[in-house]
Amino acid sequence: MSQKRVWLFEEGNAGMRDLLGGKGANLAEMTNIGLPVPPGFTITTEVCNEYSKTNELPHGLLDEVKAAMHDVEKKIGKKFGDANNPLLVSVRSGAKFSMPGMMDTILNLGLNDQTLEGMIKLTGDARFVYDAYRRFVMMYGDVVLEVEKERCEELFTEMKKELGASQDTDVDAEHLKTLTAQFKALIEEETGHPFPSDPYEQLVGAILAVFRSWNNPRAQVYRKKEKISDDIGTACNVQSMVFGNMGNDCGTGVAFTRNAATGEAHVFGEYLMNAQGEDVVAGVRTPMPIADLERENQAIYNQFAKICGILEDHYRDMMDIEFTIEKSTLFILQCRAGKRTGPAAVRVAVDMVNEGRLSRDEALMRVNAEMLDQCLHPVIKPGSKYTVLAKGLPAGPGAATGIAVFDSQRAADLGKGGEGKKVILVRADTSPDDLKGMLAAEGVLTERGGMTSHAALVARGFGIPTVAGCSAIRVDGEKCQFVIGDRVVKEGDPISLNGTLGEVIDGTVEVQDPEMTGEFGTFLQWANEKRRLGVRANADTPEDAEIALKFGAEGIGLCRTEHMFFGDERRPLVQAMILAETEKERRGYLAHLLEFQRSDFEGIFKAMVGKPVTVRLIDPPLHEFLPSMEDIQASVMGLRLTNPNGSLLKEQEILLSKVEVLHEVNPMLGMRGVRLSIMFPEIVEMQVTAIMEAAANLARQGYAVHPEIMIPLVSHVNELTTIQTQLEKVVEDVLAKAGVRVDYKFGTMIEIPRAALTAGEIAKHAEFFSFGTNDLTQTVYGISRDDAGAIIDKYLENKIFTVDPFQSIDQVGVGRLMQICIEEAKKVRPDIKLGICGEHGGDPETIKFCDRIGLTYVSCSPYRVPIARLAAAQAQVKLEDKSDK
Ligand code: PEP
Ligand code: MG
Repeated sequence: MSQKRVWLFEEGNAGMRDLLGGKGANLAEMTNIGLPVPPGFTITTEVCNEYSKTNELPHGLLDEVKAAMHDVEKKIGKKFGDANNPLLVSVRSGAKFSMPGMMDTILNLGLNDQTLEGMIKLTGDARFVYDAYRRFVMMYGDVVLEVEKERCEELFTEMKKELGASQDTDVDAEHLKTLTAQFKALIEEETGHPFPSDPYEQLVGAILAVFRSWNNPRAQVYRKKEKISDDIGTACNVQSMVFGNMGNDCGTGVAFTRNAATGEAHVFGEYLMNAQGEDVVAGVRTPMPIADLERENQAIYNQFAKICGILEDHYRDMMDIEFTIEKSTLFILQCRAGKRTGPAAVRVAVDMVNEGRLSRDEALMRVNAEMLDQCLHPVIKPGSKYTVLAKGLPAGPGAATGIAVFDSQRAADLGKGGEGKKVILVRADTSPDDLKGMLAAEGVLTERGGMTSHAALVARGFGIPTVAGCSAIRVDGEKCQFVIGDRVVKEGDPISLNGTLGEVIDGTVEVQDPEMTGEFGTFLQWANEKRRLGVRANADTPEDAEIALKFGAEGIGLCRTEHMFFGDERRPLVQAMILAETEKERRGYLAHLLEFQRSDFEGIFKAMVGKPVTVRLIDPPLHEFLPSMEDIQASVMGLRLTNPNGSLLKEQEILLSKVEVLHEVNPMLGMRGVRLSIMFPEIVEMQVTAIMEAAANLARQGYAVHPEIMIPLVSHVNELTTIQTQLEKVVEDVLAKAGVRVDYKFGTMIEIPRAALTAGEIAKHAEFFSFGTNDLTQTVYGISRDDAGAIIDKYLENKIFTVDPFQSIDQVGVGRLMQICIEEAKKVRPDIKLGICGEHGGDPETIKFCDRIGLTYVSCSPYRVPIARLAAAQAQVKLEDKSDK
C-alpha cells in the first residue's frame, strides 16, 4: 500500500484512476486546470481493499483525513463541526470504472443540532437548513445505520397528511424540525444508539459505508455484467457541499458535451432549479432540457458551455458533467467520459477525427467492440402501421416487443436468463435495485425520470431500448398495470417500444435489422484498413450468409452441415438413412438427401461468390437425429400394455434396438466427427458430392467458388488420411463428370489436444486448420461443454476462474496448445491457413490473442462480424503502440 492514503484534489491528476478512482482523478484534474470545483480530498482505493480484508480502517487514517479536512477548511473559510461557520461535506464513492448509482453517497454531512444553527445564520433560511437536516438524517440512517429510508418516508407522509400538505415544500421549518427529531428517535430505537452528532464520527461512519457499498449485491451484479474486477475497490471522495436547493437562483444538473443517444455535437442534458443532484439522477422529478437554461440564465449557460468546450479539448472525449449552481455561481462536481450508446460512440469517434481531435487509430480505440452490437439493434420495419399509445423520452435506442411486466423480480423470472420470454419492464421510476429486471427485459418503460435518470444511463450502457419519463401513463405497480386515458395495459399484455423516438406502442410490431451506412460504415472501413486478421462468419444457410456478407464477412469459416439435416422434409429421410439395414438401402436415402444438400450449398456459394466457404462434414453422433432412447422405451412399454399385437409396437421395438446400438455413455467423446465418417463413409461421400456438384454447377455459370472441405474431430493423422483419400477421389470424379475445374481445399479442425500436439504430421495433408475451440476447451479442461454451466458459475463466483473459458479463450492453457500447434504446422507448411471457429471467435479478447499468435482469420456468428472487425483493428493499434515504445 502506498504511504499516502489521502489526496487533496490539487495533489492528484487524471492519470491516477487506479488509486483515486475515476471521480477522484477527474476532480483532481479539473481542479488543476482551474475549473470551479468545490475543494475536497480523496481516500484511495487501496484503503477500500484493505478495509475489505480487515473490516476496519487502517491505523492512522483518521489523522490524515483530519489534516486534509483542515486544508479544505482553510481554502473555504469554514470549519467542519463549527457551530458558527460550519463546513458541510458530501461523501461519495468512485471506482476506477464508473458504476452509476451502484454504490453509496451521503450528502450534507456535518450537520447536527449545533452546526444547524450556524447554517441558519449563514443562509438566513431556516426551512432550507431543516430540510437539509432531515434529508441527511434519513440518508445517513439508511446508508450507514441500515434503517430503511422508507420508514422515515412513512413518517413524512403521515406528517404531510396531518398538515394537509400535498408537496414536501408545503411543510415549514418547525415541522421539519419535529420530523427530524422523529427520524432520530426511530433510528435510536432501531439501532439502540443515539444518532451520531459528532461530525468526525459521522464522517467515519460514512467512509465505512462507502467502502462497504463496494460489495453490495447490486454493485456485484453490475461488475459481473461489465466484467469489472472485484479486486480494484472504490475510492471515497469527501468534498465541500454546494447547494442547488437554496432558492430559485440555485439549481443542479447533468449534461453531456454531446448527445449521448445519437452522438450529435451539441450539449445535451437536463437540470432542475432549486433541487439537489439526487433529484435529477433518481428520476423523481422530471427535469428541464439544458437548452432552457440558456433562456433562464444566459450568463450561467454560457459559462457552462465554455467549460464543456474546455473539458472536451482537455480530455479529447465526450464528457458527462455534473454541476450545481449555488446563488448564481456555477460549480462542477464531477466529470467523466460520458456513457453513450453504441451508435453515439461511433458517431463521436468519427466526428472527432473529422474535427482533428483524434487520429483514426485513437478513434478505433475509443469504441468498445462489444458496443457495436447496439448499432445492429433492430428497428421497426419501415412503413409498418402501428398505434402509438404515448410518447416519452427516447432514453435508449432500438425497438423492442414483449409482454408488460411491472416488477423487476418478475421480469428476471420471466425474461432473459429466466423463462426466456420477451418482456418489457414497466416501472414508475427505476432505482439501481431494478438492474436485474432491466437486464432480463427486451425494453424498459418508465413513467418518471429524464434522459440522465438511472434507468436511462443503465439502459444506454447495456443497449436496452428504453422510453423514460413517459408522463402520459400512470403506472400502478401494485395492480400490475398502467393506464393511459381510459386504456388499461395489464401484466401479460403485448406492448412495444421505439426507444429511438420515445414511442410506446400498442401490441407487437415487426422489427428488422439496421443498415451499415453513414458513420458506422466509415468507422468499420477504418477498422478494415487497420486490421491484419481476416474475419469470416459461421453460417449454415444462404440467409445467414447474406447477413454475414452485409456485416463485412470475408468468407464462411464454418458451415455446420448437420443443421441441414433438420426440417420436416429432411428429418424422416435422415432417420430412415440411419436406421437402414444395408448400405444399399442407406445409399438410397442419401441420394434423396443429396438433392437437398446440393441446393443448400448452391445457395450459400452463390451468396458468398468469390469468397472461401469452409464446409464442415457431419459432426454430431447419429442418435442426435433420432428420438431419445427414454421416449422410445416409454412408448414400447405403453404399447405392450395397450396394443401388444399392433404393428406399431413392432416398429417401435425395432427402433429401440437400433437406438440402443447407437446409444453411447459419453457421446461427445464417442462416435462423432471423423470417427463417424470412417464408420459410415457413404454419408460424407454424399456430402462431398453435394458440395462439389453445387460448386461445379455454379462454376459452369461463371461464379467463382472456393469450397474448403473440413473434417472434424481428428486426433490421429491416419484418421484424416483414411477419409481424405476417399473423399479426394469423390471430388475428382464429380469434377471430371462436370467437366470444370473448381479451386478446392481439404483441411481439418483442431479440437483434440493430440491433433494440436501432432500438428506437424497432420499439416502434411491438411491445407488449412480451424481451431474448434468449443471442443478444444472441453477436451483440454476435461469439462463437458454441455454440462459446464453450473460448474463454471460456481468457479466464477468463488474466483477459481476469472473468466468463463468457454467464452473467452484460456490463453495460458488452450492458447498455449494453439501456439504449439501453429509452430509445428508451420514447420511443414509455412503458408497453412489458420482459423478459429469456436464461439471464442467473436470474443474481442480472444480475437486480440488470435491476432498475436498469427491466425489467418477468425470466424464468428454473423451479428458479431462488425465486433470482430473492430477487435482485430484494435489488436493492430495496440501492437503498433507497443512497438513504438
Ligand atoms: C468447436 O468445437 O469449436 C466447433 C466449432 O464445433 P462444434 O461447436 O460444432 O462442435
Ligand atoms: Mg466441435
